[in-house]
Amino acid sequence: MRHKYRLMVPGPTTMPPEVIAAGALPVFDERIPRFAELFRQVRDNLRAVFRTRNDVLVFASSMTGAMESVLQNAFSPGDRVLVAVNGFFAQRWADMCRAHGLAVTVLPVPWGEPVDPARVSAALAAHPDVVGAVGVHCETSTGALSDLRGFAAVTGAAGVLSVVDAASSLGADELRTDEWGVDVVVGGGQKALMTPAGLSFVTVSERAWDAHRRSTGARYYFDWTATRDAVETRGATPFTPAVSLIVQLDVALTRILAEGLPQVWARHEKIAGAVRAGLEALGLRATVAAEHASGAVTGAWLPDGLDGTTLVARLLDDYGVQITGGLGPQAGRVIRVGHCGYVDMLDAVATLAALEQALADCGHVAAPGAGVTAARRTLNGAGVLR
Ligand SMILES: *Cc1c(COP(=O)(O)O)cnc(C)c1O
Repeated sequence: MRHKYRLMVPGPTTMPPEVIAAGALPVFDERIPRFAELFRQVRDNLRAVFRTRNDVLVFASSMTGAMESVLQNAFSPGDRVLVAVNGFFAQRWADMCRAHGLAVTVLPVPWGEPVDPARVSAALAAHPDVVGAVGVHCETSTGALSDLRGFAAVTGAAGVLSVVDAASSLGADELRTDEWGVDVVVGGGQKALMTPAGLSFVTVSERAWDAHRRSTGARYYFDWTATRDAVETRGATPFTPAVSLIVQLDVALTRILAEGLPQVWARHEKIAGAVRAGLEALGLRATVAAEHASGAVTGAWLPDGLDGTTLVARLLDDYGVQITGGLGPQAGRVIRVGHCGYVDMLDAVATLAALEQALADCGHVAAPGAGVTAARRTLNGAGVLR
């Protein structure tokens, strides 16, 4: 073995041993009571993690599938949707809306900034034909966390359906679907929920069900009615469920709820703060202002002349630490460190230590231990790594 592989990207993420082990258990038939019981428990626990009493529909797909289900099920071709675009994943929503024949009004927001509810409100007032508004909670391309409570408040006031992508924030950042009044929230397994890729979720409020009943969008695999009916009649999914993934998700959700969701959010916030401090001490300016930083991922600008693709490759090849680079216009100029899910402070410290070395190998030399020292200073004064 040359290096221990350390996965520090915002999905897919490292899994706890018991989640990995659960994936090796024998598959069982979904028509036996055991599956219905398991699936009910998973849906209950998902509701707890989404902080909702709404239906949570589960699909066997990556999260983009659940995103697509929203456009097919809550809207009709020709409907106008507002998409707040502050990064790569928000742009994907705009592209997907167009692919489904929706009329798109883009609210452009600079990359790295959160979505300002006041601007959403103004855009909705200027476009009274908008029926839905889409926002990304944690824009994973930059790490910007938007004010979801504010977003849902202004969309609700305008009588517009709120649709939120919580792919990387679910289980990492505070998210209160019902308290904040978010109609539709999309999430999935392979980020903070510490499960292999292949499961996606969507929460559907009563208002969203009403919109669904009016929708004429073409759909089959992702049909919300068929998905809910299968649960109600058989406790199952309409098509073959990803049984092993659901078994693994059950273990992961149990672990999250045992730690306690507020404690999980706090852990992410603490690690994010340490990573950010460490990166800045190494001379890498964060892509997002501290007050808008997510707990899931931290992006940082590289010093001029330092190529991000090379740095990411060297960090992996020479130290075994897998981070990732910037997306879209930030490709090559930004690095992103994922710290969602099964991550602790020592993972953050190890990443910063390796990064300091890899940066030095690329000619960017910081004071020895600068990143780790700065990270430790963020920890309850004494620098205790807990
Ligand atoms: C990861 C991610 C997605 C979806 O990705 P899939 O690859 O389809 O699972 C969507 N939005 C955001 C913000 C993400 O971080």
